[in-house]
Amino acid sequence: MMDTPFLSAHGAAKLVSRQGLSQCLNGMHDAIAHDFKRWEQFEKWARLASHCAEGVIEIMPISDGQTYGFKYVNGHPNNHRHELPTVMAFGVLASVQTGRPLFISELTLITALRTAATSALAARYMARTDARSMALIGNGAQSEFQAVAFHGLLGIDTFYLYDPDLEATEKLADHLDELGLNTVVCKSILEAVRKADVITTATAVKTRANVLTRDMLRPGVHINAIGGDCPGKTELHPDVLRHARVFVEFEPQTRIEGDIQQMPTDFPVTELWEVLTGFALGRTKADQITVFDSVGFALEDFSALGYMHQLAQAKGELEYLSLIPEMRNPKDLYGLIARKGAA
Ligand code: NAD
Repeated sequence: MMDTPFLSAHGAAKLVSRQGLSQCLNGMHDAIAHDFKRWEQFEKWARLASHCAEGVIEIMPISDGQTYGFKYVNGHPNNHRHELPTVMAFGVLASVQTGRPLFISELTLITALRTAATSALAARYMARTDARSMALIGNGAQSEFQAVAFHGLLGIDTFYLYDPDLEATEKLADHLDELGLNTVVCKSILEAVRKADVITTATAVKTRANVLTRDMLRPGVHINAIGGDCPGKTELHPDVLRHARVFVEFEPQTRIEGDIQQMPTDFPVTELWEVLTGFALGRTKADQITVFDSVGFALEDFSALGYMHQLAQAKGELEYLSLIPEMRNPKDLYGLIARKGAA
C-alpha cells in the first residue's frame, strides 16, 4: 500500500492525553537525548527562513542517512488577533533510500512538547541540582508544557508567573493548580525572577526586547531562553550573556537567530551535544549564571516525529493519506489521467 501514515492534530491531542503528558515528555526527552548523542551521524543545516513584517515561515530539514525529516513552522507573534496560535507546524519523515514519505504529522502540539523536553534536558546539565523553583515569563501556548517538563524531569515544584496579559497568566495558573503545582502570580518580571532558581523566558514580540537585564539576576540562576528565536527578536540584554556560560543547539543557526545574534561572532558558546556526550561540561560552579539560548533545532523535531510515529502505531491512532499516486507502471504517470479511448 502506498498510502502515507498520518497523525492529525486531533489524533495527536488524543494520543498525548491518553498516554499522559508527563510520560510523553519523558519519552521525547529520551529520544532527543539519544539523537543529540549521535550528533555526528546527522547532516545538518541552519533552517531556511522567509521573513515578513508580521513574522516568519521556516523549513527545518535534517537527515541521518537513513531517514530524512523536515518541519514547516511559522512564528507570528500577533496571530492572536486572527484567533490563530503564534506557532503552527507540521512535519514529515521520509526514506533516504527511495525518498518515499514514511510519516506525516501535525507538529503544533508536538513542538511545544519537544521544546519543553529539550529545555528540561539542557537544564539537567545547566541548572543547579538543588533548583526547585522557576519563573515563567510569557504565559502563552508553550508555558504549561515547560512547567510540566521541569516538574517531571527536574523536580521544580514552585512557579512564579508573569505576563502583561493577565488572562494568559490566569489560564496558566488554573492549569498548573489543577496539576497540584504551587503557583505565585507576579506583578512584574522582577518580582517573578527574584527568588527563582530557573527562569524560562517564552515571550513573543518581534523586537530586541530586554526581558531580562543583568541586575535582575541572582548568582547561580539558570536561564532557559526560548522566545528569542529570529533575527531582530531577542529577550536578553547583552550584559546577561556577557556574564553567563552560554549553551546553544546548533551554533551556525543560533548565531543568526538566538540571543547571541547581539554578540560578536567569536563570542564563546558550547553546543548541547558536547555536554551530553561529555566533550564539554555543563554548569561548573554553583554561583555561575547559565543560559540555554534555545531557538529550536531540526534534530528535536526529527526525534519527536520518530517518537510520535511509534506511539501512534502502537496505539492504533494512525490515519492514512493518499499522498503518492499508485501506479502499476511507475513510468506511466500519464496513465493516471488518461482513460483508454478518451482522447
Ligand atoms: P504565545 O504568543 O502563545 O505567548 C507569548 C506570550 O508572551 C504572550 O502571552 C505575551 O503576552 C507574552 N509577552 C510578551 N511580552 C512579554 C514580556 N515582556 N514579559 C512577559 N510576557 C510577555 O507564544 P508561544 O507559542 O507561547 O511562544 C513563545 C515564544 O517561544 C515565541 O517567541 C516562539 O517563537 C518561541 N518558541 C521557541 C521555540 C524554541 O524551540 N526555542 C519553540 C516554540 C516557540
